[in-house]
Amino acid sequence: MKGYVSSIESFSALDGPGARSVIFLQGCPLRCFYCHNPETWEAKGGKLLESSEIINKVSRNIKFIKKNGGVTVSGGEPTMQIDFLRELLQGFKALGLHTAIDTSGYVSIEDIKKVVEFTDLFIVDIKHIDSDVCEKITGNNNESMFALLKYLEDERKDVWLRSVLLPGLTDSEEYIADISSYVQSLSNVQRFELLPCHDLAANKYKDLGLNNRLSEYAKYDIKTLQKIKVRYNELLGEKVVI
Ligand code: SF4
Repeated sequence: MKGYVSSIESFSALDGPGARSVIFLQGCPLRCFYCHNPETWEAKGGKLLESSEIINKVSRNIKFIKKNGGVTVSGGEPTMQIDFLRELLQGFKALGLHTAIDTSGYVSIEDIKKVVEFTDLFIVDIKHIDSDVCEKITGNNNESMFALLKYLEDERKDVWLRSVLLPGLTDSEEYIADISSYVQSLSNVQRFELLPCHDLAANKYKDLGLNNRLSEYAKYDIKTLQKIKVRYNELLGEKVVI
């Protein structure tokens, strides 16, 4: 089967455990104003590739990624091409690789059931725990994200959560307490990653003729980030990384 692929990174240490190959698929139903990959938004952008082509490409790195790493399918929102995603994950599992998907959680449970048996780790981006604020950030509410996390807990699947630190939106004492208490209520979260917002995608927005709203937000200094991390560590322990 063919699918639309934005890019393939042979080695990454950022998207899951160990050294990984990362496949970025095209298409995303959300429009997060801090998105660093706006070039992945269009469902039919990028290159149209056969799943076997990608699996072969990844298999060439197998000796580097098999030991402690694996392969992550990201996006865009990788579940937008659910049947293609399933074929990829199935192929990677046949190679004996650890598999992960990086998702916003904006996906139906019916679709996620198609890939769950071939996915070892779900990396889920928590956009905001308040649905109205989530809608302001992404254009959609957070109901499907919560439904996905509940489903993954029921299925005892490993989960890493990610939260983008946005000044005034996701860094207040109240927000940190609320999200920590939610994370503590889940039994299957292994890691909670804090991603400070940055403006490194400014040129992409310019090239695509898109309005870059992130430029309106202040950047974090090291001291503030440390303070936020310490507070999270007090509440969630060592699973917090920044
Ligand atoms: S879900 Fe991810 S890819 Fe989609 S707009 Fe948000 S940050 Fe970008």
